[in-house]
Parts: sequence; structure tokens; C-alpha cells
Amino acid sequence: MYMFRMCSILLIIIAYSSLSTAQEIDLYEPMYYQQAVEKGTRSRDGNPGPNYWQNQADYSIDVRLDTAAKKIHGKQHVTYYNQSPDTLNHLVLRLYQNMYKANARRNINLNPENIHEGVYLDTIVINDEGILFNDSVLTLRGTNLAIKLAKPLLPGENLQLQCAWSTPIPVEKEFRRIGYYKDNAWFIGYFYPQIAVYDDLNSFTSMKGWDFRLFHKGAQEFYNDFNNYEVTIEVPEGFYVWATGTLQNAEEVYKKPLYRKIQEARNSEKNVQLMGKNDLDKDMLKSNLWRYRADGVPDFAFGTAQNYLWDATSVSIGDKKVFTEVAYHPDAKLYPKVIDIARTSLQYASGKLPAIPYPYDHSITFNGNLGGGMEFPMIANNADTEDTTFLYTVTFHEIFHNYCPFMTGFNEKRYPFMDEGLTALFTGRYMRDVHDMDQYADRDRFGNLGNVMDVYEYYALQEDHQIINAYSSINQDNMFFQYYLKPAVAYELFMNMVGEQAFINAFHAFVERWKGKHPTPYDMFYTFNNVLGENYNWFWNAWFYQLGYPDLGLEFKQGELVVKRIGALPLPVKIEIAYNDGTTNTITRSMDEWKNGTKQIILELENEDEIKTIQLNTERIPDIDDHNHIIHVNR
Ligand SMILES: [Zn+2]
Repeated sequence: MYMFRMCSILLIIIAYSSLSTAQEIDLYEPMYYQQAVEKGTRSRDGNPGPNYWQNQADYSIDVRLDTAAKKIHGKQHVTYYNQSPDTLNHLVLRLYQNMYKANARRNINLNPENIHEGVYLDTIVINDEGILFNDSVLTLRGTNLAIKLAKPLLPGENLQLQCAWSTPIPVEKEFRRIGYYKDNAWFIGYFYPQIAVYDDLNSFTSMKGWDFRLFHKGAQEFYNDFNNYEVTIEVPEGFYVWATGTLQNAEEVYKKPLYRKIQEARNSEKNVQLMGKNDLDKDMLKSNLWRYRADGVPDFAFGTAQNYLWDATSVSIGDKKVFTEVAYHPDAKLYPKVIDIARTSLQYASGKLPAIPYPYDHSITFNGNLGGGMEFPMIANNADTEDTTFLYTVTFHEIFHNYCPFMTGFNEKRYPFMDEGLTALFTGRYMRDVHDMDQYADRDRFGNLGNVMDVYEYYALQEDHQIINAYSSINQDNMFFQYYLKPAVAYELFMNMVGEQAFINAFHAFVERWKGKHPTPYDMFYTFNNVLGENYNWFWNAWFYQLGYPDLGLEFKQGELVVKRIGALPLPVKIEIAYNDGTTNTITRSMDEWKNGTKQIILELENEDEIKTIQLNTERIPDIDDHNHIIHVNR
């Protein structure tokens, strides 16, 4: 009897839920987001709420590179402003380089020779009081260090943090954010003790409000406040420096002839070779102290080398001139092309797609990394390559990261698909429009460098994850699928459904609302719904929150063509009909035909007796099972 009643309740629930699929879907919202809406820091129309706030810091850093000991030493003075309505009892510092400690938890492979003792903190002084290095004051979680404040930091107040530190630099050949490359070239990123983000979203963690739980294991990227930096870099005599921001003492650093050439490049739309092969043995520097300033940026990084080639130009973006530089090893054969690729990248992103002016007045491509590229504000650290396609994609991709995540301060640690997916989408468009290379059609040419249709393989390997929390299930093998390919395909299909201009309008609104802030995926999805005037939660839900593979199938009986949605993902429908007389016809259905949970679409066909074949076109639409894609009607 009890069992029977249970069953009937179950039946009612099933009947109700199948009814409710025809209604609008709410996206799953974690509690932190619901609370943010209640507190008025976020809103479900996608705008920042009236009570939105974020914190900020001014960094003054002196850093010295010791190439002999392969170490950097630093001293810093930071003013941290608490603009939140909360009293802060802790300050959280990120010691990224502790990722290299022997017992650190990592999600990338490290060459064992790179294991080192981590960051050495000499002193920490907060508001003129030295911090005791003991367990009652310090709590370590991976690369994050929480310091219990002797005097809590009240809303609207600031604190002064001073510290002295040093850290070894990894030297062996592997991809990384900091390192020594061949012939005395160095790239220094993720290097200084950085104050973590305190935001309105981490309300339920033990270190309430602080981005404390997720630490750097190697694969994670940025989630930083927008800060001001004054950095003095000391390098050995004869080393050139390229860095985030603006060099403040150019006349003290460069000898006159080089200084004049740089001024020429700053004002020229033509490429100027600042350092050619014949200049390498010339002494063009007067000082080894380089002073930089960068305001309102999420990070600071620099590259340095002794004998690098150096090209520069100025790219006009509206009434702004972007000083564009490329610094590279003399053996990097294709690198002389990069200055033009950087120019077309800046012009395309600023003027064509997404047609938002490049946010800074400086762009540098530094050739260090041994495979791939890595972005920092205004400066990318990219590998040498003999593959022109890769050179195009990696140059554009890393420059585009100045929009996503640096203009729109995403939490890449939790939502890496936000910046990589959008960047992959726009990289694909740049390749098609500027270089006439199609990431969908040119499978061989793109290989593993971003062939969008490689999504098939990952679905088939059962590497699918819900994109919204894929950060928790990444490894080096599936990262590319989860962060880049799957979201890029989703954005492309969404763009095709709503129209390119409508998509771009919504993207502009999103960037306008959230530039210099910290948007979550909800702020992005809700902005798209709001600006496009339609609830697309069925789409966001299916592609970003649920598991599901792409699979449509055809069935043909008595003049009716049935298109079945076999996999859960909604997809656009494109069907080619071939007739016996050699003519063809194409039937298309928009992706939103599936929005109410429909499992099949029935199409009436004309001139049925004359049809030879009916075929699903999957050239640009992923579909993992092709056995039901073609029907031979009359052979
Ligand atoms: Zn990227």
C-alpha cells in the first residue's frame, strides 16, 4: 500500500515535470549568486547591482633578477583599500611559486629538476607592525597564505603591507608563466606576493569573502583586482626589458640613437626594426634600472633578454596609438612576421569583431615559452614555431586576452570557459576573415591547434563535463575541450541562431556593464537574455550546465521526415535533399525549435517520389554518430 502511494506520487511528478518543460527554465544558481542578488551587488537582468563593490590595491615593487643564481629578489609596499561593506579580519596573499615545492599539489606535469623550496618571505609588516610567522597568525592553503590581522580592516579604510621576498626561477624546458629560456632570455610572471580577491561571492567559505580555497596548481589562471603598479626592475648590465605598462625612464635607459628610433616607431604606422641582427653586439643601454607604471591593470609581468631582435610600430585605434612591440630570439625564423600579425589582430578586434577598441596603449609579444602562449596585461609570452597557422592563432589569441579576461575581470580559476571560450570564438573569426583559414573546414591545417570539429573526439571519449564547473575536473588532456572547444562551439551556434550583429550588440553591452569589474557567468548569460529580449536559459542550461552530446538522426516514412534529437544538446538542423534530376534543396531549422524540450521535428517533403537522398549536413554542426545522417530514398 505504501509502495503504491509512492508510485502514484512519482507518476504525478513525472507528469508535472513534462508539463513544466514547456515553461521557461531557470538556470541553477548557487547560493552565493542568490545572496548577491539579495544584497544588491548583482541582478538578474545582468547589470551590476546598485550595491556592487570591489577592492583594490596600489603596488610599489622593486624586483632584482639574479641570472647567476637564477632567482628574483623583491621588496614591495602595497596599499590595500577595503571598499567592501565588511570588516576584514584576514589578508590573503598568493605565493604562486610555492607550486614548485616538493610536496605541492599540482595539476600540471613538472620537470623534477624544477622542484624548489618556494617563496622565501623575509619579512611581512602590516601597518608598521611585524607579523609573527607562527600558526596563530598564518594559515597556509596550497599557494595561498592567510594572515590574521592584529587590527581588523574596517569598511572604507586601507592598510599598508610591506614585505621582502625571493624565489628561485624554473630553468628546464616546459610550459610555464615564469622561467629561463635559451640564451639568457627570461620571462617573469606570477612572481610577487599578490593580495587575493575579496569579493561579494565567496560568502560561504571558512575565509569568508576571500578567494582562498582555490589555489594555484599550475593550470589555473587569473582572478585579480584592478590595481595600480609602480615597478622598478633591476637586471644585469646589457639586458633589455619589455613589461606591462609604460616605461617611465626611457631617456635614462636607452642611449640617444636607440631612444630616437623608439620615438620614431611610436609615431610610425610602418614597422621599425629597433634591434636587427647587426645591432646585437652594440651597446645601446645606459642603465640597468627600468621603472614602469601601469594603472588599473589586473597584473604586472615582464620579459628580459640580452640579444633579442626587436620590432615595433604604432597601430592607430580611433584616436589612440597602440605602441606595438615584438621581441624574439634570432633563431625564431617566422617571428619577423609577428609584428604584422599583431597589427592585424589589434585592428580586427578593435574595428571588426567584436569591434571594441583595444583597452591599452601598449602591446608586446615576447618570444619565450617553449610551446603555446601565455597572456599577461599588455604582454604575451609566446613560443617560437615553424607553423604559420599556429603563429597567426597564438598571436591573435594572446592579444585578445587583453579583452577577456583583462578588460572584464573574470574568475578564470572557477570559470575558465569564460575567457578561453570567447577568445577561441573570436580567434576563429579572425582566422577566417583575415587569413582565409576556416577552423571548421580546414581540419588538416589546424590539427590540434584549434580545429573546432575536434569536439567529436572528446565527446566520443566520454570526456564531456558540465562546463559551468569543469574547473574541478580538468586535467592536461581534457582542458582544451572543456575550456576552449566546447564553449567556442556553443558561442558560435548561439551567434548563428541570434544573428552576428545581435550577438555582438549583446557582447558590447556585457563588456560595457562589466569592464573593470568581476562578472560571473550569470552576469554574462543574464545580460545576453536582457539585451536580446528573450530568455535563452534553455540554451545556457543545455550547453553550460548539463551533460549531453551532439547527436541528431533522420528517419523517413510515408512522406514524413523525422529529425530526432538523440543526444541532449540542442543543435540547428540543416538537411540537403538531392533529387533524381540532379537538383538539390536545403531545409534549415533554427536551434530554438528544441527549446521546449521537443525530441523530434517532423518535416513534410515535397516531390517525395523524385527524392534520391536526404542527408544531414554536419559540416559546421557537431554530431558524434553519423550512421543515421543519410537516407537513400530511391536508388
Ligand atoms: Zn587563452
